[in-house]
Amino acid sequence: MKTLAGQPEILVVDDELHLRNSLSALLRIHGYSVSTADGGESAMEALQNSPFDLVLLDLGMPGVDGHQVMEWIKAQQLDTCVIVVSGDTSIDSAISALRRGASDFLRKPYETDELILKIENALSKRRLEKENKAINLQLRESERWYRYMVNSSPDIIYTLDANGCFTFCNDRVESLLGYHKETVIGKHFSTFIHAEDLETAQHVMQERRAGGRAAGSVEIRVPHGTESRLLTLEFNSFGIYDETGSETPPSYIGTYGVAKDVTERKKAAQLISYQAYHDLLTGLANRMLFKDHLELAIAQARRYSHMLALMFLDLDRFKVVNDTLGHAIGDNLLIEVAARLKNCLRVGDTLARQGGDEFTLLLPQIDSQEDAIRVADKIIKSFGAPFHIDGHELYVSMSIGIALYPGNGGNIDTLIKNADIAMYDSKAKGRNRYQLYASDMNVTFAERLSLEIQLRKALERNEFQVVYQPQINVISGRISGMETLVRWASPLLGYLSPQEFIPLAEETGLIIPIGEFVLRSAFNQARLWKHAGLLPQRIAINISAQHLEQEGFVAFIAQLLQEFELEGSMFEMELTESVLLNDGDHIIEKLQMIAGMGIKIALDDFGTGYSSLSYLKKFPIDTIKIDQSFMRGFPGDSGNESIVTAICAMAQGMQLNLIAEGVEETEQYRSLHTLHCNEAQGFLFSKPLSGRDITELLMKDAPLGPQHLRPQHCFNL
Ligand code: C2E
Ligand code: CA
Ligand code: CA
Repeated sequence: MKTLAGQPEILVVDDELHLRNSLSALLRIHGYSVSTADGGESAMEALQNSPFDLVLLDLGMPGVDGHQVMEWIKAQQLDTCVIVVSGDTSIDSAISALRRGASDFLRKPYETDELILKIENALSKRRLEKENKAINLQLRESERWYRYMVNSSPDIIYTLDANGCFTFCNDRVESLLGYHKETVIGKHFSTFIHAEDLETAQHVMQERRAGGRAAGSVEIRVPHGTESRLLTLEFNSFGIYDETGSETPPSYIGTYGVAKDVTERKKAAQLISYQAYHDLLTGLANRMLFKDHLELAIAQARRYSHMLALMFLDLDRFKVVNDTLGHAIGDNLLIEVAARLKNCLRVGDTLARQGGDEFTLLLPQIDSQEDAIRVADKIIKSFGAPFHIDGHELYVSMSIGIALYPGNGGNIDTLIKNADIAMYDSKAKGRNRYQLYASDMNVTFAERLSLEIQLRKALERNEFQVVYQPQINVISGRISGMETLVRWASPLLGYLSPQEFIPLAEETGLIIPIGEFVLRSAFNQARLWKHAGLLPQRIAINISAQHLEQEGFVAFIAQLLQEFELEGSMFEMELTESVLLNDGDHIIEKLQMIAGMGIKIALDDFGTGYSSLSYLKKFPIDTIKIDQSFMRGFPGDSGNESIVTAICAMAQGMQLNLIAEGVEETEQYRSLHTLHCNEAQGFLFSKPLSGRDITELLMKDAPLGPQHLRPQHCFNL
């Protein structure tokens, strides 16, 4: 490689051999590396093959002459310098060679010193040129980089003079804010700042401190130049000082700043904080925001000695809407409910959704409890009109509990708790009403709460059991069927009867998993008995209205039959009259499907409700069960006796199976026989027993009840 730094490479081109040789020898002595060419053609060949720093070119040569070689070098843009040598005395050829780009001209014959001097000059000129070019290139490159970096910065970069007018800004101001750079330069910063943020802007825009002490990260709103939007920019700036002068201290020139677009980040932060404080479905305040407002309101009420009211509102039977019509309609209903509630309020009141179908309302300043009652009244009345949701006309009501400050509590937690207690009280008193908190409500609420918590846990912990109570054939005394009854063995509360927890289970929806548990247990027991060849004629299971109404109930039963490989005819479902009153067509279809599987249907607690005979015809009912309350004072109590007599006669007329419940005395048994009631159930025959105890009874296959008192003629049967 021939480089400028090493030995300069020289090509000597001459057609005269002795000249070539003497020149080469001379140049080598002076430390140059020399190659030779004997004519234009071989010169071009040599130049093509390797670079030379300098060409010593004879102009007058036969064939391709020096001029043509010059022409060729120019055309090829070869990076080399040329000194032409000529015996020609006319100045013309020298000028034309120089014009073609030769660095110098030497006339033959020449002095050695002259030659060496010209070569040295040409080479050092060439070296300088090369260095200059490299420096220029570097400068252009770094300037380009600097410009590129400043202009393609995602942030606005600017400088202001000491008066606060722009002296520089990068291209970003155009793409971000829609201003041409030229229109910004020279303008005062206040031209661009949102009016409300001007004061904040003063500090950061006229920052005199430099370095780490300067103001950092100040958010300022800036209107867009051409569009009607407001951007939020985060400014960082510091003072610039002229340190070139000799003055001490250095003089303040202006500020240098960077503005970052944080509009999206700001929006996201706002959204997050909105979500943290609002219920997304209804747009109402959430629990957190409500507490904030309540805390503030209590502080105000304390300072200015006024009252405030807190209401706890709960939709009645919202669960039914959700379960029967689906969550989408349930959600829409909640949105409408929120809107209707808002209509009942004044500005300053806070309405919040606590979750589910529970709302809280804060009236931050009232004069008397009547003010709160008036609002509660208004709300209850406003729910008198139906809601129209997706083609459904829905009537919903609210139960409201009210707690007042300072009378019913002096802090957030007590007020919320007491309003909640009052709400439960209004539910207990029949729903669709409001109730002011009273101190004696506390006990019942605490009981309820602990029961509810325990009930939820009971399912996971397997605390439920089922027992079976035999139903006997009045004539033979033998078991004709049994009723499945659920029990709750709570380690905390003891052995609980269904009456103590079924109402709460229904209210909380836990009746569904409990009902499923009972069904599974009964089916499982039926399979055990079937395999042991002990099957009673019929296993009755109590079905709660809510469970029956649930979508998929029929499918669930069908699946159970298949899973346990049992026939429907082994089972009976006990329903209460209220089920049949609810929604005729819907239920009738379900009952027909159940009857279609061979499952019998019994009407439980007959005589206590409407006891309308019309639905006995309308629904596929096989059995009616005379409510046990009619056994009290029977026989003897004339009222009960006539009712039982009438029911027995009716059942016979309609050819329905009839079971008398709660039979405890021999006299009752005897009378039922006389009235031709065909089945009976009660402590006289057996208490509800575990599956294992029932298995023993079934194996004995003996008549139950007082043998010696069995009606005489029965013994012959
Ligand atoms: P029910 O369907 O009327 O059940 C009969 C109730 O009377 C049972 O009470 C039974 O133990 C009781 N009993 C039986 N013979 C006599 C008697 O000679 N004298 C008296 N005084 N009582 C007698 P239990 O087991 O406490 O059930 C109470 C109610 O709870 C049931 O009334 C039924 O409505 C409901 N229930 C029980 N098990 C279930 C269940 O698995 N699912 C549903 N949904 N409800 C159930
Ligand atoms: Ca029953
Ligand atoms: Ca009953």
